[in-house]
Formats: sequence, structure tokens, C-alpha cells
Amino acid sequence: MADISRRDLGKLVAGAGAGAFAATGFGTFAIAQGVSAGRVVVIGGGAGGASAARALKIGAPKLEVTLLEPNRIYSSSFFSNLYLGGFRSYASLNHNYDGLRRLGVRVVHQRANSVDTAKKTVRTSGGQTLPYDKLVVSPGIAIKYDSIPGYSEAVSNGRAPHAYLTQGGTAAPWRW
Ligand SMILES: Cc1cc2nc3c(=O)[nH]c(=O)nc-3n(C[C@H](O)[C@H](O)[C@H](O)COP(=O)(O)OP(=O)(O)OC[C@H]3O[C@@H](n4cnc5c(N)ncnc54)[C@H](O)[C@@H]3O)c2cc1C
Repeated sequence: MADISRRDLGKLVAGAGAGAFAATGFGTFAIAQGVSAGRVVVIGGGAGGASAARALKIGAPKLEVTLLEPNRIYSSSFFSNLYLGGFRSYASLNHNYDGLRRLGVRVVHQRANSVDTAKKTVRTSGGQTLPYDKLVVSPGIAIKYDSIPGYSEAVSNGRAPHAYLTQGGTAAPWRW
């Protein structure tokens, strides 16, 4: 099979909508199918990371793609308006990772705790050290509760809820 060129990979990533590729230069990266497998670690199994993992595995099946995502269920924020409007069930917003596994993506339900870019390794919450050739970082956003005086996670759970973080498949999807 043909190698994936830099242009092809660019198309894959653009199609995947990945938030950030932590490293560039895939053109020189030995992901040539049949030459070297290559190891990609993807941090975050949301829309961005999961799409990137999927596109990479489909585009280069011999790549070793490992997806790190602590939650077993991803609840999409998109389409939440349809749920709130009564047009979709909440269950329809929940997605597991079986499809990616079937493609051959190794899904590890742990959090990435740190990245050593010199050694090219990711340390997981379960104590694993995952080596990578290329790293995709797509962890979404986090809220800095203390950036607004008087605001806190406790306040967000009560008086002033926000709608930015879904809850990974639990019964209460959004804090509003
Ligand atoms: C209420 C709401 C409604 C929206 N509606 C729409 C819409 O209608 N259309 C639209 O296009 N967009 C919509 N969006 C925006 C859309 O949801 C985001 O753009 C999209 O989810 C971003 O994808 P992402 O993969 O970057 O991040 P996320 O979807 O947030 O995924 C990030 C993933 O990374 C994981 N993660 C975080 N830290 C780590 C770590 N250290 N290690 C491993 N994994 C980690 C998280 O568990 C999470 O699963 C909406 C957003 C919200 C909040």
C-alpha cells in the first residue's frame, strides 16, 4: 500500500477536526504502511480525539493508535439542544468506544497525567508509561472556577450552574 503523504495526513487531521497535533512533520514519520507501524497516542476521547484516532486508524491501519480517555461513555454536548427540546433522548447523546476498538484502536480508560516530550512518553493515571512517535492532544476545556471572584465548583453546582461540561453518561448531563 502507498505511504501516507504529509498532504494526505493533513487531510485526515482536518477531517477529524483534531484540536491540536502536538508534533508536526508526519511526512518524515515512518508511518509508511508495511514499513513501520508507528505509535500514536491520542489524549482525550471527545469529538476531536476520537475522530482523530478513527481517521488515523482508517487511513493507516498498521499504525498503533492508543486513545486515552478516562470516561467509558462520551456524552456529546452537541445535540443537547435537541434533547432539551424533546426531540432526542438523552441516551442518544451517549457514545461508547466499541466502534474504535473494532477498528483496532487501543482504548485505555485512564487519564493522561503528564507528558514527557523529551522521552516521548505519556504517564497515565493508572501508572502506565506509553511511548509515542506522535502525540495528539485533544482534552477539551476545563473551567478555572477561581478566575471569577466568588465563583467555585460548589457554586456552579448550585446557585450559578454552567453548561460547559458534560458528565460522561450520568443521569444529570449538564449543570444547568
Ligand atoms: C452545551 C454545549 C452545546 C454545544 N453544542 C454544539 C453544537 O450544537 N454543535 C457543535 O458543533 N458544537 C457544539 N458544542 C461544542 C462541542 O461540544 C465542542 O466543540 C467539542 O465537544 C470539542 O471537542 P473536543 O474533543 O475538543 O473536547 P471534548 O468534547 O470536551 O472532549 C475532551 C475529552 O478529553 C478527555 N480528557 C480531558 N482531560 C484528559 C486527560 N488528562 N487525559 C485523557 N483524557 C482527557 C475528556 O474526558 C473528554 O472526553 C457545544 C458545547 C456545549 C458545552
